[in-house]
Amino acid sequence: MFKGVLIEKDDAGYRASVKSLDEAQLPEGNVTVRVSHSTLNYKDGLAITGKGPVVRKFPMVPGIDLVGVVEDSTHPEYKAGDAVVLNGWGVGEVHWGGLAQKARLNGDWLVPLPAAFTPQQAMAIGTAGYTAMLCVLALERHGVQPGDGEILVTGAAGGVGSVAIAVLAKLGYTVVAATGRTQDADYLKALGAAEVVDRALFSSPGKPLGKERWAGAVDVVGSHVLANVCATTKYRGVVAACGLAAGMDLPATVAPFILRGVTLAGVDSVMCPRADRLLAWQRLASDLDPAKLGQISREVGLAEAIPLADSLLRGEVRGRIVVDVNR
Ligand code: NAP
Repeated sequence: MFKGVLIEKDDAGYRASVKSLDEAQLPEGNVTVRVSHSTLNYKDGLAITGKGPVVRKFPMVPGIDLVGVVEDSTHPEYKAGDAVVLNGWGVGEVHWGGLAQKARLNGDWLVPLPAAFTPQQAMAIGTAGYTAMLCVLALERHGVQPGDGEILVTGAAGGVGSVAIAVLAKLGYTVVAATGRTQDADYLKALGAAEVVDRALFSSPGKPLGKERWAGAVDVVGSHVLANVCATTKYRGVVAACGLAAGMDLPATVAPFILRGVTLAGVDSVMCPRADRLLAWQRLASDLDPAKLGQISREVGLAEAIPLADSLLRGEVRGRIVVDVNR
C-alpha cells in the first residue's frame, strides 16, 4: 500500500483527499517509480479543485511532475535504482501522476535526474521551470540576444515567471518583471529583475500598437495582457506565450505581426519531444543558479497540497511549491 492524493468524481461530487492506495490500482506502464517529491503547478491547482477540465479520467492521482527512483523496469533505458524526472505527457490528467508515493509510467516519458540538481531542486523547477526554459529557448531560436533590449516577464512572481527571470538574468538579459504583487519587488529583484512594473499596465483593453519597448517577452497570462505585450514589442521582437492565468482569449489585432514583424512563439511543455526536454534540462543545469531555487520554492507535505491548490489559483502562491510525498 502507498499514500496518494486521489481525485474522485461521482454523485457525491468532485473531491480530492489523501488515500491509501494499492499497487494493483496503478495504471499500466513499464517503469515503476518510488516517488520522493512532486510539485504543485497551476494545472495541478485546476485538477485538485476541479476549476478547470484537466482531469479526464476518474479516479485520478494528480501531479504533472515527479522525481524518484526506479523500483523496477522493463524499459531498456532504465533499471532499478536510477533517479528519474517526469514532466507532463498527460500524467496527472489521463494517467495517474506524481502526488503519490508510487507511480507506474511509460519509460519513454522519463528523463534522467540531471546531476546538477537534487530531487527537491528538480521539483522546485518542475513543469513551471522547465516551461520557463522552453520559453527562453524559443526567444533564442528566434534570434533574441541579451544586447537587444528589455525582456518582459509577466506573471513574474508565479512559478514560470520566477524561473524565467532567474534564467534570463543569468544569461545577461535586462529583465522587466510585470506583477500584481509589486510589494514583492525585492523578491523579483533578488531573482534578477532590473525593474518591476505593475501588471495593471497591461490588463485593460489597449490599442493595436503601442510604444515599442520589449525586445522579447515571456507571457504566462494570456488575454489582454498578451495582446498588450505584443502591441508594445519592438520591431522583429519575439513573444513566447505559454499560459492563460488571466484567460484563454487573445483580444489582439494582427498589427504587431504584419507591421512590426513581431513573432508570437507558442510554447507547450506537455507533449514536447524528448530531445527538446533533454536540451531544456541541460540548459537549466548550466543557466539556472541552483541557489536561486531556495528563494523560489518552499516544501509542503502531501495533505497540505490540497488546500494550497485553491490559493495557487487565486495567485497567492509565490514561486514554486515542492511536495514531499513521504511527509
Ligand atoms: P502560478 O505559479 O500560479 O503563476 C501564475 C501567475 O500569473 C501568478 O503568480 C500571477 O503573477 C499571475 N496571474 C494570476 N492571475 C492573473 C490574472 N488574472 N491576471 C494577470 N496575472 C495573473 O502558475 P505557473 O505554474 O507559473 O503557470 C503560469 C501559467 O502558465 C498557467 O496558465 C499555466 O497553465 C501555464 N503553463 C503552461 C505550460 C505549457 O506547457 N504551455 C506549462 C506550465 C505552465 P503575479 O502575482 O506576479 O502577477
